[in-house]
Amino acid sequence: MYTMSSDDFSVHLRECDEVGSGIPLTSLPDEVTSLDDLPCACWDKFESLDEVE
Ligand SMILES: [Zn+2]
Repeated sequence: MYTMSSDDFSVHLRECDEVGSGIPLTSLPDEVTSLDDLPCACWDKFESLDEVE
């Protein structure tokens, strides 16, 4: 599960501290094609987007 910030529509891991209250997502948006599209530090533990899915 992921969370989209209602402030800037950035996508985060559900447990991310940065996102605060947001919109739950069951999958990543189609616009997200690489980890570069996920700038938050909560994604740093992944080496590539393949590991996220
Ligand atoms: Zn985050």
